[in-house]
Amino acid sequence: MRTILHSDLNNFYASVEMLKHPEFRNKPLAVCGSIEDRHGVVLAKNYLAKSFGVKTGDVFWQAKTKCPDLEGIQADFSAYYDISLQIMEIYKRYTDRIEPFGIDECWLDVSGCAKYFGSGKQIAELISGEIKEKFGLTVSIGVSWNKIFAKLGSDLKKPDAITEITPENYRTLIWNLPAENMLFVGRATKEKLHRFNIFTIGEIALADKDFLFGKLGKWGEYLYRYANGQDDSPVTAVNQDRKVKSVGNSLTSYRDLMNFEDVKTLLLLLSDSVATRIREGHYGKAHTIKVTVTDNQLKTYGKQERYAIPFRSAGELGKKACKLFSEFYDWAAPVRAVGVSVSDFAQTKEDLFDFSSGSRKNEKMEETVFRLKKKYGYNCVQRAQILKDKRFFDMDVSGGHLIFTDDNKED
Ligand SMILES: [Mg+2]
Repeated sequence: MRTILHSDLNNFYASVEMLKHPEFRNKPLAVCGSIEDRHGVVLAKNYLAKSFGVKTGDVFWQAKTKCPDLEGIQADFSAYYDISLQIMEIYKRYTDRIEPFGIDECWLDVSGCAKYFGSGKQIAELISGEIKEKFGLTVSIGVSWNKIFAKLGSDLKKPDAITEITPENYRTLIWNLPAENMLFVGRATKEKLHRFNIFTIGEIALADKDFLFGKLGKWGEYLYRYANGQDDSPVTAVNQDRKVKSVGNSLTSYRDLMNFEDVKTLLLLLSDSVATRIREGHYGKAHTIKVTVTDNQLKTYGKQERYAIPFRSAGELGKKACKLFSEFYDWAAPVRAVGVSVSDFAQTKEDLFDFSSGSRKNEKMEETVFRLKKKYGYNCVQRAQILKDKRFFDMDVSGGHLIFTDDNKED
């Protein structure tokens, strides 16, 4: 059995800011993308701000109405990045199998380290103590035999806690949690599960595997295995390249598409969902975009183009996808399915954390849309184009996030 830790720095941005500015220690504090205009979005808050109901994604002036004494500070991504790298050095002393998950979380595979450092829980205690002593920051660490449960463990108790999830206690600790607490269960999957009367992780675990497979495909099988602690995905070693080579979604229309306007709607829907995945996965910007088309005779065509300047916004993706489509599709037959994928990622320092460092207006707008979608559901904001055919609106593109992956495995 493996020993895997998931370490999550508590309130990372806000905690770093409180270290840099001790005067904010006992005040409610929000870290924002921008504070020059009052429309900056709250990216992180300390516990005091949280107790007033301040939430990530709130616009600063709105947060201020909930908490009049709220202090705002502009995010300092290079400071967070530097500290994150220094903390990585602590992790590296225990294992080289470390897989970062965003800037403030990572998995560590410490299997076989017991003879040097002790049990998983003891290693977690050592790490937590060291981070507290050196940086004055706290972590929540989950200890388990697989990545999914280790992550759940780190979410279970916060801040400054260690939670061990064992084959003996996982049913009591985890199975009564809502299904969406499990990694990769997004809103779309949650809603589908609710339709089958599945609300908790335990109910996924006890569901019929074939039923889940039938309803959710391969993804259903993954969920079943995750909920039963059968996740055997490895912790990617720190010096291994990130494996994501391309991110793509495709959609089959409920009817033949006869003209460019129809196809454009799907291409924009897909571009939105691909852009969301790029943001969620912190993949950076892509150089290459590819559009594939299947006509109603089931013949498939495709074309890709590489751009010198990398891109990631839904707007740019949509424009490029439409241009590419018009260049190669000759309308010999109506269109049945389209796909958009991007590859050739160029990751910049800022991409590792967040998207708020984008200075251009469009980036800001998309960031807001991204946060709204995260908060209120994928379909809460839609393009006007999609309203041209209301039935497109009901097509669940977000559900395709994980199912229609190319060569990247999301687990
Ligand atoms: Mg965290």
